[in-house]
Amino acid sequence: MAYDPNNIFAKILRGDIPCKTVYEDDFALAFHDINPQAPIHVLVIPKAAYVSILDFTAEAPAEMIAGFFRAVGTVARQLGLEEPGFRMLANIGSDGGQEVPHLHIHLFGGRKLGRMVAKAD
Ligand code: 5GP
Repeated sequence: MAYDPNNIFAKILRGDIPCKTVYEDDFALAFHDINPQAPIHVLVIPKAAYVSILDFTAEAPAEMIAGFFRAVGTVARQLGLEEPGFRMLANIGSDGGQEVPHLHIHLFGGRKLGRMVAKAD
């Protein structure tokens, strides 16, 4: 899938639409999900044009990959999620349930999170 520069997270990165930022550095932006599925639900996105973990890991410079995943850990610690734990998740493609075609890691916490994968419809 080609990267769509008008996807909603690209617009957030450009500052065209607002978000509730929780963390930002040279590689990543983290902000609260607009429709939270847990008491804490934060999205971490790279500051670069990648659709998913597939093109990101194939094409991004090593510094960007390291910086992005460091930021995911930093955000989790900053949110106090280390104890009693949390979930990180990335949806990819249609079966994965990906709605926004800009790589994002979901961080969920603040309650017991239940099943790892929903039952099929
Ligand atoms: P996906 O299904 O692609 O893994 O997740 C996309 C996520 O983006 C959803 O959880 C959805 O609630 C969130 N989202 C969609 N549009 C916006 C927006 O404009 N602002 C924020 N903060 N989150 C959004």
